[in-house]
Amino acid sequence: MKPDSEKKEKSNYSVEAHLIYGQSQDPKWDYSHHLLPPISASATFRLDSAQRGAEGFAEFAHASDDLTVKSKAPIYIYDRLGEPNKDMLEENLAYAEGGDIAVTFASGMAAISGVLGILTGSGSEIIAHQTLYGCTYSLLTNWYPRLKISSAFIDLTNPNELKRHITKKTRVVYMESPVNPTLRLIDLNAVADIVKEVNAKRTEEERIYTVVDSTFASPFGQRPISLGIDFVVHSLTKAIGGFGTDIGGVVIGPKWSYDRLMLYRKDFGGVLSPRSAWEVLVHGLPSLGLRMRQMQVTAQKVAEFLATRPEIECVQYPGLPQFGQAELAQRQMIDYDGNFAPGGMIYFVLKGDSPAGQLKRAERFINHVAQNSYCITLAVSLGNIRTLIEHPGSMTHSAIPPEEQLAKGLNPGGIRLAIGLEKPEDIIKDLSASLEATR
Ligand SMILES: *Cc1c(COP(=O)(O)O)cnc(C)c1O
Repeated sequence: MKPDSEKKEKSNYSVEAHLIYGQSQDPKWDYSHHLLPPISASATFRLDSAQRGAEGFAEFAHASDDLTVKSKAPIYIYDRLGEPNKDMLEENLAYAEGGDIAVTFASGMAAISGVLGILTGSGSEIIAHQTLYGCTYSLLTNWYPRLKISSAFIDLTNPNELKRHITKKTRVVYMESPVNPTLRLIDLNAVADIVKEVNAKRTEEERIYTVVDSTFASPFGQRPISLGIDFVVHSLTKAIGGFGTDIGGVVIGPKWSYDRLMLYRKDFGGVLSPRSAWEVLVHGLPSLGLRMRQMQVTAQKVAEFLATRPEIECVQYPGLPQFGQAELAQRQMIDYDGNFAPGGMIYFVLKGDSPAGQLKRAERFINHVAQNSYCITLAVSLGNIRTLIEHPGSMTHSAIPPEEQLAKGLNPGGIRLAIGLEKPEDIIKDLSASLEATR
């Protein structure tokens, strides 16, 4: 093998080439005769001497200056502290988001609790957008109050709301964009600017950090760090993993956070399995661009179809000309080549004469899809190669009390459609049949 210095400069190639090749050779593990990296399948690692073991423990979470390309192989000790598959995946995930570092976790929720875990402590306050993924909402409302971490839920689609809710105790501003499931957008650059302005007058200990759950867009569809956001989290289970085989999560952020995230993960224990890391490294990330590009062509056609249907009250898809935040969408949701990337998620509301009537109709429609569709499956999750449909009000967002859902923009008749890799005609065939049968 040629030494790294003699190899072609990777910055001459596109981001997507890097998502396929990653750090194609690596001092961490000699697999130069394999086309693909092997799967690490060892819970513990052989050490040559007690000194080497001691050195390994001393080095752990004391990152060198160069976090990505280490000059020498790290000393692996035990899978929960680190192993090569996760290291390779993390290098590539950090690159995909344009962040300094990435630390993977056992699930998206483990990643969210990991980043909030290192940024908050007893007495801290989190400001969050009012609509959040149900389990994140439950984490903030059911568990954090026990640790004396409180949360204020506000409408961050209007960033000007933020200033008057920030207090001395605020440590984190947390949001999803697009918002799950309504696909409303938050102006990430505007939020980051407001927080920067406040931080300019604060000490290091009082600093506020911005965290974005960018799962809906995937790194292909937007890069919040480039807009001034501090941390990005993803559920790897969704578009990045892509095939629905594994659960996983990741936090991408600034260099200083690497050691803290690694220590947190070691002690709370939510590590990604090397087999799951390998799936994302070998199948998920290399095909992300191809899948997302195809999904959004399909999503556009399906959203246009839904917008013509008399049974439907409204369709939310950032690629539709009537999308309420079209200017923001086109500024914020862009792929690696600078093209508009409206993504593969659609939210639509069925008509009904009352919220109860809408709910009934949504249930009848979803049940008809579940029992009759070939190309649409009733299942939670998204970014999968199969198109999935679900009813957020009673499923992913049921942790939010029904009486609060409406105020948070969650209509009882709302339906979330996560486009897969089928042809648009096939998805439309199934949707038409169920719309007609449940009129
Ligand atoms: C699925 C999801 C999560 C949680 O991820 P898991 O991998 O299921 O733990 C968090 N945020 C969003 C937006 C999600 O869709």
